[in-house]
Amino acid sequence: MESLRKPEWLQKKVNPAAHAEMEGLLKELSLNTVCQQARCPNITECFRQRQATFLILGRACTRLCSFCSVSKEVPLAPERGEPTSVAEAVRRLKLSHVVITSPTRDDLPDGGAGQYADTVAAIRKASPGTRIELLIPDFMGNLEALKRVLASAPDILGHNLETVPRLYAIRSGADYRRSLRLLAEAHRLEPELKTKSGLMLGLGEEEGELLAVFKDLVDAGCSYLSLGQYLAPSRQHYPVQSFIEPERFDRLKEQALAAGLLHVESAPYVRSSYMADRYGGKL
Ligand code: SF4
Ligand code: SF4
Repeated sequence: MESLRKPEWLQKKVNPAAHAEMEGLLKELSLNTVCQQARCPNITECFRQRQATFLILGRACTRLCSFCSVSKEVPLAPERGEPTSVAEAVRRLKLSHVVITSPTRDDLPDGGAGQYADTVAAIRKASPGTRIELLIPDFMGNLEALKRVLASAPDILGHNLETVPRLYAIRSGADYRRSLRLLAEAHRLEPELKTKSGLMLGLGEEEGELLAVFKDLVDAGCSYLSLGQYLAPSRQHYPVQSFIEPERFDRLKEQALAAGLLHVESAPYVRSSYMADRYGGKL
């Protein structure tokens, strides 16, 4: 399919000169961010505000989602010093809210749950006032891995469904029902903990399918949802099927709230970690 021309509401400019300070800090501490790895279009805006989403457990993923630009190299063993390096960055950036995520590490016996837990502990020690949001992989449905993460007591736990079940072929190795179960289990085990999910739009989903996903999320006890426009990282990635107009994002937000979600961010440039501190006020 030929790539579609971006509409005028999707013309955000990336200005690498504005990233120098943040990039220097990340390099000094040998840290990865999803902002850089996923080529996020919000990077200039977020880095200017000294906001970043840290990518722990290396840069390489064991899955092959056709919409994602995270590296498909062979993953390395987790860095032992990574939790304290993330905590040091959070301290230096004086973050009131931080989002931590990772590639999927199906090669590790605990899926990387231990590194998540160690990272939460290190941040609590270095910056006790910082709210911590984790955006976790599905751990292949491993309940013990989920429990390990929950025991570290994050403030928000996210897991993205990414798209409607009919399109799960593009989420290689994932399973819609397993992802929903992860959110439902987290809510069942820690009912006070707010859970969060995210969907990309413009992949070919239909409105009725989205409404069914909103209902599934509410049934799984999920509180927060982000909806944003999918943008293909390159011509080799899954092509954008449509550009969703800003008014439709507004309408979908109303529909998601009406379905029972507590807080919804919905706009073309919304990503699961975009302005994530806004959710913090709802804790
Ligand atoms: Fe990074 Fe999230 Fe901002 Fe994108 S929206 S630049 S991933 S913090
Ligand atoms: Fe990218 Fe996550 Fe898919 Fe890995 S599992 S390829 S990090 S979207």
